[in-house]
Amino acid sequence: MGNSPHVYVVGGGFAGLQAVGALLRRAPTARITLIDKNDYATMLPALPDVLSGRVRSAAITRRFAEIVDSERVEVIRDEIVHVDAAQRVLHGSAEHYKYDFLILTSGSTPQYYGFTPENGQLHSAHSFAAACALRDAAADQVRQHSRCNVVVVGAGYTGLEVAACLRHGMLHNSVQPQITVVEVADEILPFLKPAERQRVRDYLDAIGVTLRTGASLQRYADGRAELSDGTAVDQAIVCWSAGMRAECSKLSGNVERTRDSRLHTNEFLQLPEHPEIFAAGDAAALQKDGRFVRRAVNFAFYSGRAAGRNVAAALSGRRMRAFRPVDLGWVIPLGEISRGRIFGGIPVGGRFGLRVHYLMCGIRSFGAANAVEFYKTAFCLSRQPEPIEP
Ligand SMILES: Cc1cc2nc3c(=O)[nH]c(=O)nc-3n(C[C@H](O)[C@H](O)[C@H](O)COP(=O)(O)OP(=O)(O)OC[C@H]3O[C@@H](n4cnc5c(N)ncnc54)[C@H](O)[C@@H]3O)c2cc1C
Repeated sequence: MGNSPHVYVVGGGFAGLQAVGALLRRAPTARITLIDKNDYATMLPALPDVLSGRVRSAAITRRFAEIVDSERVEVIRDEIVHVDAAQRVLHGSAEHYKYDFLILTSGSTPQYYGFTPENGQLHSAHSFAAACALRDAAADQVRQHSRCNVVVVGAGYTGLEVAACLRHGMLHNSVQPQITVVEVADEILPFLKPAERQRVRDYLDAIGVTLRTGASLQRYADGRAELSDGTAVDQAIVCWSAGMRAECSKLSGNVERTRDSRLHTNEFLQLPEHPEIFAAGDAAALQKDGRFVRRAVNFAFYSGRAAGRNVAAALSGRRMRAFRPVDLGWVIPLGEISRGRIFGGIPVGGRFGLRVHYLMCGIRSFGAANAVEFYKTAFCLSRQPEPIEP
């Protein structure tokens, strides 16, 4: 294997693991290295359940050592801090790596638009560690001060899920959490029909979540969150869910990107400026019918597989295949209700939609043990959160 071409995959999420699988099947002579900053993969759609307690936390992650079962794949834990595309070198936090082909599948990270707290910490739910830290901060408030004040910034699907799941997770505690969701737009979830939006608003109202639309977080200092509508929440934990950008911003050179840093690719998922670099999943500006697709597991899964196949094709001199995203739909799980569209637009909601969501988590999860946990949740929907120990 000494002189075999070396393919690096950066990011072992849905896209990266599919890329590795495709390379294993179709590029028998390639050296394959997967680099991730963690030593485990994360089922991101289940992160709000770290807060709800509905899914056992152990089912949300799985170590790469248990997923990637092949001597042909080297798995390295490192954070890539810079990609030198001209020299074809990846710079990690301690090491650097020379690649022949590179597949960038490093997902997304929160976008703060320049907002910085003064003497305080912004939480988020974009990674397992971040969701656990948010859950622990909420539990600490309950334990120490018998209160739980949370401000969620952004009423997109993640922000609303976080709010609903936090509420669900606190059901069996004597403390009723004070949860405020602040959204700069005048309306939430604009892609829903007005009646559906109203249903979501009514539900949030019923579970005690305060929604402040047309407002933004102006200042967060010493635990006080001040909003642009003149209101404020004291002793607040702030969860930032106001936007994401691609986590591949450290790629040097003149590459084309979207406003949220996703990399433009050609139809084969190659960067036009560097045909030896492919991008997939959230890192890529995938398009369908001339519009950028939303960040979603299915697009990541199939684009990662396509990138792996195309690298294998390039290595063996075969023709690469164009990637055409297919939209299988989406579901937003909100505690006890849900809203979604599946298979070309069929509306789903309520507990049925929740079951579809957890079934999809099971189908896409990283291994049988994790999948079983999601299937159990899909069928029973009844696992109750643990009460917070005094
Ligand atoms: C809270 C939340 C809820 C969501 N809910 C849904 C849902 O219900 N349905 C749905 O379809 N989609 C949902 N999404 C979106 C979906 O999870 C993403 O679109 C999908 O995970 C993208 O897959 P990916 O492989 O591109 O990236 P990821 O799954 O994010 O994987 C990226 C990997 O790259 C690694 N990495 C990142 N940076 C570096 C670096 N510099 N060096 C080394 N490794 C790095 C990370 O550790 C990670 O393992 C949700 C996302 C979030 C955050």
